[in-house]
Parts: sequence; C-alpha cells; structure tokens
Amino acid sequence: MVQRIPPSVQTGTWRRELARATRTAEELTAALGLDGAHLPAPGRTAEREFPVRVPPAFLARIERANPDDPLLRQVLPLAAEEREAEGFGTDPVGDLEAARAPGLLHKYRGRVLVMATGACPIHCRYCFRRHFPYGDHRPGVRDWTNVVEAIAADATIEEVILSGGDPLSLDDGTLADLAARLDAVPHLERLRIHSRFPVVVPSRVDEALLRWLGHGRLKRIVVIHANHPAEIGPEAAGALARIKNTGATLLNQAVLLRGVNDDAEILKRLSQRLFEAGVLPYYLHLLDRVKGAAHFEVEEAQARALLEALRAELPGYLVPKLVREIAGEPGKTPVA
Ligand SMILES: *Cc1c(COP(=O)(O)O)cnc(C)c1O
Ligand code: SF4
Repeated sequence: MVQRIPPSVQTGTWRRELARATRTAEELTAALGLDGAHLPAPGRTAEREFPVRVPPAFLARIERANPDDPLLRQVLPLAAEEREAEGFGTDPVGDLEAARAPGLLHKYRGRVLVMATGACPIHCRYCFRRHFPYGDHRPGVRDWTNVVEAIAADATIEEVILSGGDPLSLDDGTLADLAARLDAVPHLERLRIHSRFPVVVPSRVDEALLRWLGHGRLKRIVVIHANHPAEIGPEAAGALARIKNTGATLLNQAVLLRGVNDDAEILKRLSQRLFEAGVLPYYLHLLDRVKGAAHFEVEEAQARALLEALRAELPGYLVPKLVREIAGEPGKTPVA
C-alpha cells in the first residue's frame, strides 16, 4: 500500500519547524498566556546551563494558562533545579566510563549504543544527559568509520542502538549512509533508534526518513519517548503510523516523573493511547539521579504501587517494565 504523506511532512519541513522552536522561558510562558504570579519560581541559572527548547508541535499540545500542565513541567526551568540534592550527580549512569570509541557505549551484552549526536529537538529538564560533555563524545563524520570498525570487530554485538542526544537530529543522508554501513556488518541482526522526534516534531517522519528506515537487511526497532498521553496528538499518531508501515517495531520508553505522570490513571491512559497509535510500552524508568532533577523523583515504594495498580487494570502487554539504571549492572535493573 502506498501511503499518502500530508503536504506538511514533505521532506525537509521539519528543519524549518525546529528553527521555530521556543528558546527562552519568557517566550514560553508568554506564548501560553502564563504570568509569573501563577508559576513556581523560575530557574534562571538552570536555564543558562541547559537552555529551553520547545518545538512548535509540542508547544501546541500544552494547555494554555495552566501552570501545572504536565507537558509544560517537562520543559520549563524552575528554581527547584538549582537546589543541591544528596546523591544527584552529573554522570548518574556511569556513561563516561563505558565509552569504547568516541561516541560508542558498550555496557550490555550484545548491544552497543551509538551517541550519534548531542543535539535534541526538545530539552527535557529531567534529562540524565543534561550535563554530558557531548563535545568530547560527538562523532564527526570522520569518526563514523571508527564506530563502524569497532562494531565490525566484535562479533558478540547483535544490535546497534542509535541514541544521543537524538539521532534523528542528523540529516537523512548521514543516517542512510550509517544504516547502509551497519547493514553490511554480517553479525548484526537489529538496528534500534531511540528518538523523541516522532512525538515532539512529527513532521520529522517524512519521505526521506521513511526511505532509509524502510530498507535494509537489519530488523528495525524505533523506541519513542512519551511520558503523558497528551503528548500524542493526531500529528504524532500519523507519524507513528508511517513508521509502523515500514515494518519497524514501535516501542515507548517513559520516565516516571513527579507532577507529570505519577498517577495510575495517567499511566493507564498513556499505555492505551500508545497502543491506539501502534506502540507498545517498553520501559518505565525511575528517574536517573541527575543534578537538577531531584524535584521530579518519585519514591520507589510509590512507583511499585503505581505498577501494581496498572497490573490490576491493564492486559500484561500494556504494562511497562519498571526499571532503574544502576552503573556497572549488566542491564536495566527491574524494580517491580
Ligand atoms: C539502556 C541501554 C541499552 C539498551 O538496553 P535494553 O535493555 O536493551 O533496552 C544499551 N546500552 C546502553 C549503554 C544503555 O544505557
Ligand atoms: S536525550 Fe531525550 S530526554 Fe534528554 S533532552 Fe534529549 S530528547 Fe529529552
């Protein structure tokens, strides 16, 4: 079946959309009709360290004049980020120790993670990479050869995960070239892409992307990142349907966040909404303890109780795995 692609997602439109992203807290609150009196204290230092970035499609999903909107909470810098909190550091998951080659992390058996770029379409305040020195680990085009050679030299690797930052920040020519080079490595079976683009900039899923994603020997898996059902509007659902049509497997990972999705009813609706869009829930991550994100943390006991409530309400395939990342462990650690 040939799928019709709406004119708004013709090749390259997404670059223009990204260029129109909101880049300051002031612009963001003005666009939403929010005034300071109704908002928690702003995080000006936090904003300088990790600037605001909200693409138009995500902004459009935020409810006007609601300071507690769960999507707004993910992107608005608050003074709470500037409070020191015990146990919250700058490399909570031990990534800096796991680099194999510049941009290549090999922590788990059979899978390697390629930090394809440091750029993201949106800046999530809880992000565990907010302090990561991307500059030192970002492979320039020159380094793809080193990455591909390191993968080709280790026959225990079956799956390559393109991550970042967000790998779909790269242009499709680069991605098509990398995918083709990985296709040619005989011991690889799967190519996985971790991206928030289909949710936050749905126009990214255009013809040029579908062309390389839909071809090649490796099985494709696209793991999206949505934390709240309101993130998945009609445009995102359309983007997900286009990905699904290429034959890729679609999964979601979410982070359990206080004030965003720490509620059984919201998590249930997230799973249902994902399923409607052809996506299965994969992981629900306990927050990585990154400096500046302590106010998002949900207690482990509450997280377990939320999972129990979900299990009582949903078929097993709609219940995500609750996990925590512990530095040095051979995989994500199950919590419940
Ligand atoms: C999370 C992660 C993976 C993928 O783990 P899965 O359990 O296969 O989803 C691989 N490598 C690194 C470094 C990771 O952090
Ligand atoms: S890496 Fe993911 S969670 Fe972090 S800022 Fe980028 S899109 Fe958000």
